[in-house]
Amino acid sequence: MQLTNRSKIVSNKKMTLVEKIYLPAVLSGMSITVKHLFKKPATIDYPKKTREMAVIFRGQHVLKRDENGAERCTACGLCAVACPAEAITMTAAERKPGEEKLYREEKYAAVYEINMLRCIFCGLCEEACPKEAIFLTDKTVPSTFERDEFLYGKSILTEPLNSTVDVSKRQTKDTLEFKKDPHFAHNILFDPTKPSKKSTKH
Ligand code: SF4
Ligand code: SF4
Repeated sequence: MQLTNRSKIVSNKKMTLVEKIYLPAVLSGMSITVKHLFKKPATIDYPKKTREMAVIFRGQHVLKRDENGAERCTACGLCAVACPAEAITMTAAERKPGEEKLYREEKYAAVYEINMLRCIFCGLCEEACPKEAIFLTDKTVPSTFERDEFLYGKSILTEPLNSTVDVSKRQTKDTLEFKKDPHFAHNILFDPTKPSKKSTKH
């Protein structure tokens, strides 16, 4: 039974002398190579050069800080539950008196890890987070030869204190409008250029 019409009947005819020396076949192959020398290359010199990504490209995560620089994450675990790849693990801890500037809520993530080998960059953790604590950025996760190095902890994921990871361009108009609502003060993004305000309780 014939499934497609692409089958070819193989010829058993004897090769001619010209065919036996393979010269025409080699020349024909070389002509294809030479033609490609003058075409625009389809590849780029990665990692020296990188392609421009769409603003909505979902790359490495960031754990955001609030307007005072305190960690937003309250270790509620919703991102881990939403994660289809089971890539997120965390250990919750209770905030001690005097740590209000470090952690926004009474509970925080003492350990927060994402296994980047499991992550499929779907963005569901971002959607699930009620505290605007986790976002995916346009940063590509760098390659490495060690599997352990793909376990990203808080030291890699948490937003630096001296610079903001701006995710505003990656959000829809509706989300940005929602963030302006004063009733949702936890949605204000940390701006290190602005003076610190007293932390508000939620
Ligand atoms: S982007 Fe998707 S797969 Fe990756 S950690 Fe978040 S929910 Fe899990
Ligand atoms: S990142 Fe958000 S959803 Fe995940 S544990 Fe922290 S507060 Fe909860």
